[in-house]
Amino acid sequence: MTTVAVLGTGIMGAGMARNLVRAGFAVTVWNRNADRARPLAEDGAAVADSPGAAVAEAEVVLTMLFDAGAVDEVMAAALPAVRPDALWVQSSTVGVEATERYADLAGRHGLGFVDAPVLGTRQPAEQGTLTVLAAAAQAVRERVTPVLDAVGARTLWVGERPGDGHRLKLVANAWVLSITTATAQSIALAEQLGLDPARFLEVISGGPTDSAYAQLKGKNMITGELSPAFPLAGAVKDAGLILAAIRASGVDDRLMGAVHALLDAAAEAGHTDEDMAAVVHATRPGR
Ligand code: NAP
Repeated sequence: MTTVAVLGTGIMGAGMARNLVRAGFAVTVWNRNADRARPLAEDGAAVADSPGAAVAEAEVVLTMLFDAGAVDEVMAAALPAVRPDALWVQSSTVGVEATERYADLAGRHGLGFVDAPVLGTRQPAEQGTLTVLAAAAQAVRERVTPVLDAVGARTLWVGERPGDGHRLKLVANAWVLSITTATAQSIALAEQLGLDPARFLEVISGGPTDSAYAQLKGKNMITGELSPAFPLAGAVKDAGLILAAIRASGVDDRLMGAVHALLDAAAEAGHTDEDMAAVVHATRPGR
């Protein structure tokens, strides 16, 4: 039985760990706040009290942490205990520069490295229906495929170059954050023009400009049901990573600059831990 260590059991990591257990892997989990890891024991995961203890036996180490700062800290603690034949599957959204750094770090420790960010939020993570955007050397793909199949409904092999998974992730997230912010703008505008904002979702419904995401997030914006599936803090962080990639590429940065500013304004107004649909607060008058 393949042994997998999951470092980070937040919204995404917890669901991914449960699906690895269901798929028959021997799973050990660790989380900085142990209260978020402990419930996984009921699902059949072993709960470790340090990153080193979690990875000691693992053939595959999966990181699902907030950002590069968290991955740096946790892997500094884990790496001395990682088996020399292990594979590191890095799924936290950290951007291209950090991914290239981690590929080098893995190489220096003799580990196989898989750049494997995911698309999908809380529910797909819980249901094992994420889309994995993977990049890795051909030599490690076969070994890692059963792990990726357990957490996702689909693995898209983007390339062999570490960072290609993240490049596509930033491209896709630019779309996700833009569509969410544009939905917020139309909802706020409908409200200020004296309309029921649900009419906006009704008018696009089923037409060529409709989007399941606009319907989902738009309903949350209207009802104020903002429990986090994609937390605003993560959206602000991702918008920063996308802006850096846009600026480095020479693509015009004004649209993502505005998206980033609106997400950041909603966070500054105290909505950091809510879903990113809380960006609607930044689009309303008197924010
Ligand atoms: P989350 O629920 O906030 O979980 C974040 C995780 O990172 C927690 O385990 C947290 O530990 C840990 N962490 C943060 N700072 C740390 C540090 N300095 N040292 C150790 N651990 C630290 O967020 P999430 O939504 O699961 O996101 C996890 C990753 O998935 C992020 O990179 C995010 O961008 C990406 N992602 C999220 C979604 C989504 O829709 N939610 C979709 C695709 C990708 P504590 O519990 O101790 O704070």
